[in-house]
Amino acid sequence: MEAIEARVLDGERIAPGEALALLERESLTHLGALADMVRRRRHGDGVVTYIIDRNVNYTNVCNAFCSFCAFYRPPHHDEGWTIPYEAIEKKVEETYALGGNQILLQGGHNPKLKIDYYEDLFRRLKARFPDLWLHALSAPEIVHIYRSSRLTLRETLERLRAAGLDSIPGGGAEILVDDVRRRLMKNKASVAEWIEVHEEAHRMGMRTTATMMFGHKETLVDRVEHLDRLRDLQDASIRNAGTPDAGFTAFIGWTFQPGNTELGGKEATTAEYLRTMAVARIFLDNFDNIQASWVTQGPKVGVASLAFGVNDMGSTMIEENVVSSAGTVFHMDEPAIVAAVKDAGFVPMRRTMNYQRL
Ligand code: SF4
Repeated sequence: MEAIEARVLDGERIAPGEALALLERESLTHLGALADMVRRRRHGDGVVTYIIDRNVNYTNVCNAFCSFCAFYRPPHHDEGWTIPYEAIEKKVEETYALGGNQILLQGGHNPKLKIDYYEDLFRRLKARFPDLWLHALSAPEIVHIYRSSRLTLRETLERLRAAGLDSIPGGGAEILVDDVRRRLMKNKASVAEWIEVHEEAHRMGMRTTATMMFGHKETLVDRVEHLDRLRDLQDASIRNAGTPDAGFTAFIGWTFQPGNTELGGKEATTAEYLRTMAVARIFLDNFDNIQASWVTQGPKVGVASLAFGVNDMGSTMIEENVVSSAGTVFHMDEPAIVAAVKDAGFVPMRRTMNYQRL
């Protein structure tokens, strides 16, 4: 363990086997200290960023059948819904009133919605709110759209971008190991498909985020494999772009929320969450930003994660429907985030999706 610690302290890249050893055997306090040191190397000014945005879920109808999801309803179910365009516009209007100009738009894989639904929606929103930032459609949704619209991935991304898509959220990654995915979901993008969407978006100069949902069927080896795939893809995207300002902007990890889900079981512990975030900070040496998930962990653990390599508090989440469907409901508005960050000894600063400080 000392040899791995020494390599981290020297600023060297660690191998997947070493990340696994840290996850399995390093003490929580040592992991925190190591990850904090790595965080300080990149963000030595003590700034912790956050963004004001709103999570808009446009439909809960979905044919992917993920056993860990409490949010979706299958096609033709009585409780299925798709929000009218006007209602989405109203939500954007409310976001502007609270000082935000970004929405994170995501939804189920609704077989009735083809690409023209998204193009019309994006054009309509951009016509009414020209400086709106559309952080929209996870990789599995994009795969669903190109399959159901009989298009190629490139055509789909180009059409969505022409209509107003600005960046792509990292949702739907769960764990990037096909064997685990097969046990969790029936009809959702494979590892190769998830990677391909982000790879292609990066090639087009679009920024995306990366996520990991853990604490369900996966092993620690699977978690490391997931992180390794992200690091490899980020290496390739930075190499292709010829600048470190490319590819993923951030990594966001959260624990599976078992309430009201078919999968059920227990939630991972706070220590497990903090250990995993610390190892992510140490291993993902080509990621600038590691984001807290206070929406699943609660504000107190979210702030505690700032001592475990995290440097971003994420979004004010004016609205959230997916995690709350599993019974987990936490709120932090802008003043609460600012106060909590200051209380922890950091400097709060608002940012854009591309981590430009405001
Ligand atoms: S997690 Fe997403 S893709 Fe899976 S069932 Fe829920 S809404 Fe559908």
